[in-house]
Amino acid sequence: FAAQAREKGLPIVLDLSPAVPSHLSGDVHRLRQILRNLLSNALKFTRAGRIAVHLKVDSQTEKHITLRFTVSDTGIGIAKEKQEMIFDAFAQADGSTTRKYGGTGLGLAIASQLVSMMNGSIWVESEPGEGSSFHFTVRFARVEPPTDVSVDPARSPRYTGSVP
Ligand code: ADP
Repeated sequence: FAAQAREKGLPIVLDLSPAVPSHLSGDVHRLRQILRNLLSNALKFTRAGRIAVHLKVDSQTEKHITLRFTVSDTGIGIAKEKQEMIFDAFAQADGSTTRKYGGTGLGLAIASQLVSMMNGSIWVESEPGEGSSFHFTVRFARVEPPTDVSVDPARSPRYTGSVP
């Protein structure tokens, strides 16, 4: 989304906790689909300010680690009464925002299903006119980091800060 964000003049700030392990086992396709939906909404509903992605450890056991992802924006926000409906595929029938901003109105319902398949939950905090923060958790299995130097995380390119 860097190109789209640049076009709109919106920085995407990344805030990744160093406590998050470099290697975990989970469903990268589902994870990507959820993040893609939240980021595309954040970009769609934000005219000025910034978008931020936070990642931190939520809880852990010997075998599993639950991460909490947050995608926050400084966009139009969501009214309290609507916040309860946006994760529900059947409650999107009104379609007033969809008509104005485009979209199917199903992205968050799908994201919510994917999150529960990964033993997590998804919720939103939002103030109309101030912005929205979408949080979700996903449980991953711990894995031993690969020993192959070609995939040594210390040698691989990685994001360490904000992407203007
Ligand atoms: P779509 O974006 O395709 O309409 P979604 O299920 O992803 O469908 O979102 C449902 C609705 O929730 C959107 O139409 C919009 O009204 C609201 N919404 C979602 N994300 C945001 C956001 N970041 N800021 C403001 N409103 C949002």
